[in-house]
Amino acid sequence: MATTQVFGHKNPDTDTIASAIAASYLLNQQGGDTEAVAQGEPNAETQFVLDYFKLAPLRVITKAETDQVVLVDHNEAAQSVDNLAEVQVTHIYDHHKFNFKNATPLYIVAKPWGSVSTILYYEFKQAQLDVTPQLAGLMASGLISDTLLLKSPTTTEWDRQALPELAALAGIDDINAYGIDMLKAGTDLSTRTDQQLLDGDAKSFDMGGHQFRIGQVNTVDIDAVLARQAGLEAAIKSEGYEDFLFIITDILNSNSKAIYLGDAPEAIEAAFGKKLDHDVIDLPGVVSRKKQVVPPLEKQF
Ligand code: ZN
Ligand code: ZN
Repeated sequence: MATTQVFGHKNPDTDTIASAIAASYLLNQQGGDTEAVAQGEPNAETQFVLDYFKLAPLRVITKAETDQVVLVDHNEAAQSVDNLAEVQVTHIYDHHKFNFKNATPLYIVAKPWGSVSTILYYEFKQAQLDVTPQLAGLMASGLISDTLLLKSPTTTEWDRQALPELAALAGIDDINAYGIDMLKAGTDLSTRTDQQLLDGDAKSFDMGGHQFRIGQVNTVDIDAVLARQAGLEAAIKSEGYEDFLFIITDILNSNSKAIYLGDAPEAIEAAFGKKLDHDVIDLPGVVSRKKQVVPPLEKQF
């Protein structure tokens, strides 16, 4: 077995899978002995990407199996392996806020850019290492997924510059067409149960002692998802979370609505400046959980 496992957050998304594979490759090129793994099965969008570039899904782990690990696309213990406190983190590549404690020095690359895939692309450049077509395609996909094809407010100039370069390296002529196909592959929700919809992309956050759970789903038809509200609410209740915000994002028009169940409706309304109506709040222009949802909530709690 490799000496170091490289993995992204629970409920893996395309950026987490792409950056685990890319970081592992980068570190191995520099003499490391690492293995990319995942904390879950690929979602529908990621599966589309793996099929497109003819890659097998990463092996799924629930706890680190090596003494040393590398974290990509996350740094909070709540989103990491259960035994994180028992292993040594040697590197972090991330683009989220930091909530991390470690007893030993480590290598951290953290930038407020659109994706970790973007960050790693520039790490390859800096190290003067070639990016294979497959890796370039993966990283382009992670970048497209996290920035919704450069439309999310998390998008930076670095992302805008990297995407066409990665597309060229991957041999994708029409990156917009590829990106729409990829994002749409993640929006077929009909085969997923209410529980799977909720949990698919959900992350836990500790906000002022509140265990806050925030899920997000991409769609091209918000009303079609809201038609399942009763079932979704029953599933939230059965999970027993104090606060659950389920964001439904229209990826074509860059808008969201969210279902909220919890004991702090006033705080939710104050955070977003809108009223809840039958547990649903309108979030016009909101597409980014990280930049447009978590910060206003943290201010309230
Ligand atoms: Zn992610
Ligand atoms: Zn990411």
